[in-house]
Amino acid sequence: MLLKRRELIKGAALSLTGAVIPTYARAEKNVTLPTRTLGRTGLKVTTLGYGAMQVSDPSIIRYGLDRGINYIDTADCYLGGRNEKVVGKAIDGIRDNLIIATKVHIASEKRMRRSVNKSLASLKVDTVDLMQLHNIYSQDEVTNPDVKKTMEQMKKEGKFRYTAVTTHSNQVKVLEAVLEDGFYDAVLVAVNYRSSKELFTIIEQAAAAGVGIIAMKTQNGGYADSAWPEFTPHQAALRFVVDKPGVHLAVPGMLSRNMVDENYGAVTQNGGLADFMNLESYKTALQGKACAFCSQCIEQCQFNTGGLDAVRITMYADGYSDYELASSNAQQARANITRCLDCEGCVVQCSQGIDIKAAAQRASLFLA
Ligand code: SF4
Ligand code: SF4
Repeated sequence: MLLKRRELIKGAALSLTGAVIPTYARAEKNVTLPTRTLGRTGLKVTTLGYGAMQVSDPSIIRYGLDRGINYIDTADCYLGGRNEKVVGKAIDGIRDNLIIATKVHIASEKRMRRSVNKSLASLKVDTVDLMQLHNIYSQDEVTNPDVKKTMEQMKKEGKFRYTAVTTHSNQVKVLEAVLEDGFYDAVLVAVNYRSSKELFTIIEQAAAAGVGIIAMKTQNGGYADSAWPEFTPHQAALRFVVDKPGVHLAVPGMLSRNMVDENYGAVTQNGGLADFMNLESYKTALQGKACAFCSQCIEQCQFNTGGLDAVRITMYADGYSDYELASSNAQQARANITRCLDCEGCVVQCSQGIDIKAAAQRASLFLA
């Protein structure tokens, strides 16, 4: 029965996207990755970091690290808790050359400590460089004194060197709060060629004030299209973000050596006009499918929840083909998905033309 359900979910994903991974790989083998300073942390990071979220083979991550990537992003919850162990194997023997970032959800001090200790054990390290509060969406979460006290204490104990937050929604407000509050050293922010001018402006302001800016979802959720078998919209999308003022590095997910090479090429070579013209047509092709993380649906929604959770879960399934991640996120967002399903008279106009109701129905397949 379970198998049948999985097949049903995968089949639906293919029919929705027609997705293929681009075959293009344009890597310069002997060119060094550029580095930048990650805000006030002073850490020297390569502009291409490794988003390890979906990788289950440590040798693929190690390939990227051997090519010079020095930053890895993971989380306690990726791959059902297994991803940190994969990263732990990949960094064996070279940990001192690397900057490692993982995540913890806001919870009681006891639960946060348990999560952080588990991350260190899985990664087989004594300390990580960045500990990021996961999926922050409000000013209150940024300024929460109890959470800051717990983070400060664990930092003093040497469990991590710097504090950070990650955000997917209300991102401008979260960045403003981080900037004003001054406690957190860096922000992992969902940003891509669809993002608003307002988001790019606050990113630049925060970076100017010393906040480290790490970009994720740069390639707009992993969606690919068979219309460009020889072209690399993913490369153009990555380069677009890496070149934006204030962005220090990007952490795209890389599931194969070919994807490492592709992204390596994107940040070491000059972006060409043709790439960006193709990026425009890619943008048009993904209209109605790819989220810009603008949070407008939250502002318009009568329940102040919007469809972002449903759209993000659909992206994990149909963009990343990561059904496990879609399922774990769907469980956490059950209330929001169910609310959308039961809601009548949705007035939300998604800025990217995404059908929120359809996304909620798609996401609900992962609730069982
Ligand atoms: S369906 Fe209802 S709950 Fe969902 S985004 Fe629209 S108004 Fe909000
Ligand atoms: S309005 Fe559309 S593009 Fe913006 S966050 Fe909501 S789902 Fe994403």
